[in-house]
Amino acid sequence: MSVLSVLRQILADKACFLCAEESDLPICPGCASSFRPCDPGWSDCHLAAGPASGFSAYWYEGTLRQAILQMKVQGEYQLAGQLSGMLASLAKTLPLGDRPVFVPVPRFGIRDERDPRHFPHVACRILSVGFDGDSGSGLLLKTRRTPLQTQLSDTERLKNVDGVFELSSNAGDQLRGRTVVIVDDVLTTGATVCAATNVILQARPHQCLYLTLARSRATIRSGL
Ligand SMILES: [Zn+2]
Repeated sequence: MSVLSVLRQILADKACFLCAEESDLPICPGCASSFRPCDPGWSDCHLAAGPASGFSAYWYEGTLRQAILQMKVQGEYQLAGQLSGMLASLAKTLPLGDRPVFVPVPRFGIRDERDPRHFPHVACRILSVGFDGDSGSGLLLKTRRTPLQTQLSDTERLKNVDGVFELSSNAGDQLRGRTVVIVDDVLTTGATVCAATNVILQARPHQCLYLTLARSRATIRSGL
């Protein structure tokens, strides 16, 4: 947590994290409206890391990139709830069928879905309510600690997530025959989403899709 955010809490200062203007929300309406939405609808393109089908809400640039970096690197957890609500709002018209299961991309060693600091867990809880589905927290597990993908080259990203996910012992029963939606903050090469999808498919779901808050311009390209 940054010194600024500690001071903010002590002073009960209601200021936007991005522009510091007075705001009841962590991100003021003006800054939130500057996020650039991706085209609506599902993408079934070939990501740099492999084939996957899914949806990203916004481009990973400008003020949204700044907000995500504050949330992830500086631990500004107040942002996770508001950004999750924005993702759920943009995703609400997606055709996910009956009772989808939202599975967060997990952290190593942590299964607690009540943790308000981790965007994928918070977003899965909000999405599962909005779609009358289930939160699949704890069904996909991370088997080792890895460096942040944002600090790696494309080839390093693939190696970084190779064999890093596994299913929990009850995941088969929970996911078989269901629409499973993997939820993460940023889609870059798609290495994380593809690795998670390959493991989820072992549970024989009806289909496996991804949903991310942001999408990098580097997502679609050929070769690594
Ligand atoms: Zn602002």
